Amino acid sequence: MNLCDIKTIKQIMAMFSLNFRKEFGQNFLTNPSVVEDIADNCCDKPESTILEIGPGIGSLTRELAERYESVVALEIDKGLIPVLKYTLGEYRNVTVINEDVMKADLSEILAPYFEKGPVSVCANLPYYITTPILMKLLESGLPFENITIMIQSEVADRLCAPAGGKNCGAITAVLNYYGAPEKLFTVTADNFIPAPKVDSSVVRIRLYPEKPVKPMDEATFFRTIRAAFEQRRKTLPNALSAVFGELSKEEITDVIVSCGHSATIRGEKLSVADFAALSDKLYQRIK
Ligand code: SAM
Repeated sequence: MNLCDIKTIKQIMAMFSLNFRKEFGQNFLTNPSVVEDIADNCCDKPESTILEIGPGIGSLTRELAERYESVVALEIDKGLIPVLKYTLGEYRNVTVINEDVMKADLSEILAPYFEKGPVSVCANLPYYITTPILMKLLESGLPFENITIMIQSEVADRLCAPAGGKNCGAITAVLNYYGAPEKLFTVTADNFIPAPKVDSSVVRIRLYPEKPVKPMDEATFFRTIRAAFEQRRKTLPNALSAVFGELSKEEITDVIVSCGHSATIRGEKLSVADFAALSDKLYQRIK
């Protein structure tokens, strides 16, 4: 069964009386070599478990099941569960769970798999909820080795932007704290049914087992990053003053200069290590 063949996809949807659900971001891949490339590149350890978010009708799931020890697939649309039973029936190493990833208790679901070996994430993510899903995965504290996601190209460029670049945003800095993102390849909109309005890219994030940057207080670290990017046209003292109301602008400028930066620098120029050093000094003043 070729689950990327448009005729087959339409037949399966008709057989189970289903329509593509826009509200769930259902754009299914129709190019088998793209599906194979994602499965090949999401992880380099065959003994891994792969958490897949949004298996759809199971095209990527099958390729993952062929390559890795086990696959746990979370699908929100209960209409797709009988489809997945039909398309994945022969794979004993796949577990499908009908759950919203945003509500799922990932540490409970994945505990037995983490006991057995490495776990990575691989997903063609629904566009409407890319950032919340990525943040949930990062903030879960679960020791995923890699997170490989297909997302809108524009979002991929933001995630993978170098510090100081024009595409760099708060999410870029936060992501680089957890791991090293890398854009693998771009997939044009005509490789999906229905075709989305924009192109997509595949991004692989190799999570740091030990974070190279260790801020004293994570809450202040994230607050500093958010403040710096919320008003990115402002200089850093002005942007931080708007959020750190407990300090005067002079005190904030003093901290910034003591970290070796000019008082007119903008937040987007700072690296993750710079943000950690700055937030440590702010934390020492406000704690
Ligand atoms: N993996 C398939 C593919 O590549 O062809 C389908 C990808 S489609 C872009 C996104 C999938 O995520 C859909 O199957 C959709 O129903 C599912 N989905 C959307 N929101 C979800 C959520 N909150 N939790 C779990 N699955 C979700």
